[in-house]
Amino acid sequence: MQAVALLREDRALRLVEKPRPEPADGEVLVRTLSVGIDGSDRRLVDGEIGEFPEGEDHLVLGHEAVGVVENPNGTDLECGDFVVPLVRRPTGDAGDSVELDMAQPGTFVERGIFGAHGYMAEFFTSQPEYLVTVPESVADYGFFVEPASLVEKSLEQAFAARSAFDWSPSTALVLGNGNLGLLALARLADRPEFDRMYCLGRRGRPDPTIDFVEAVGGTYVDSRETPPEAIPETYEPIDFAFEATGYPNHSVEVPRALASNGVATLQGIPGSAETAIDIGEFHTDLVVENKALLGVVNSRSSHFEAAIEWLAETDPELLDTLVTGVFTPAAVDAAFADDDETMKTVVTFE
Ligand code: BGC
Ligand code: ZN
Repeated sequence: MQAVALLREDRALRLVEKPRPEPADGEVLVRTLSVGIDGSDRRLVDGEIGEFPEGEDHLVLGHEAVGVVENPNGTDLECGDFVVPLVRRPTGDAGDSVELDMAQPGTFVERGIFGAHGYMAEFFTSQPEYLVTVPESVADYGFFVEPASLVEKSLEQAFAARSAFDWSPSTALVLGNGNLGLLALARLADRPEFDRMYCLGRRGRPDPTIDFVEAVGGTYVDSRETPPEAIPETYEPIDFAFEATGYPNHSVEVPRALASNGVATLQGIPGSAETAIDIGEFHTDLVVENKALLGVVNSRSSHFEAAIEWLAETDPELLDTLVTGVFTPAAVDAAFADDDETMKTVVTFE
């Protein structure tokens, strides 16, 4: 079968030929329909993140997949069921935890990212407890389930962190107009709480991502003119902020954008970066205004299910505008290319 892999030796992105995987006892064989590409995938290719599976000379990429059950292999799934796989798998200590998204580093691998092959191949196998079924109507957009699940987890964590008092948010800010930021904005537009939404980017018009921001009712904020800390004065204080840039300065800038009692979740994973900041002001601002800053990574089945519910109710045309390219595995270089016109790109195996 064909698979898109990253080679260990020269970190090259390649279409490779691999044997079709055989499902072990209790595992399901899934035929892949499509796989989305995100910032993590591009950073893997750039050598910034990731780990090859032990003893292997390549890593099959892809963690935003949707497929169809080819061989249920005696499990409760049925042939033809549409499924979306979770990213993490336990490696011993985490056992069969259903809260793997909250597990300690070192107790799991991440398929397609960290120590285990991903889903960008004609077939993959998985235990059924790591597969979430999707209705046929959502299967065409099934590659959005995993990234959308990150937004669901962020919202759950943010509201939980504000649940000890009477919190009535009405404004939201997304930092970043990349594929995750735009998907998050579309999700927030459908939440009843957020009457006004802002999306921060670093580009000028004309720009398709700015058009998307406005199409879902958001206000685009050019960070070169209005950095996060200027948002309260220029626009208004923000109750809930979702960071999707991976730009490390945002972690210390975003609390300044928040209203009293506001909450921000950070999703980017920038790695090492140094900057000079007034750490005392940063600390004081968090304390005296009861602000919360949460790191949020990965997601679990319940977040996948919430994402599926949202996608099922979302206008397919809106989702289509996010998809700027659908590529065959042979065109993988084009699929991974990124420019100002690129929103979501997808590799299809159909
Ligand atoms: C994935 C998450 C993963 C994280 C860290 C993200 O791109 O969507 O599932 O936990 O990267 O590797
Ligand atoms: Zn991802």
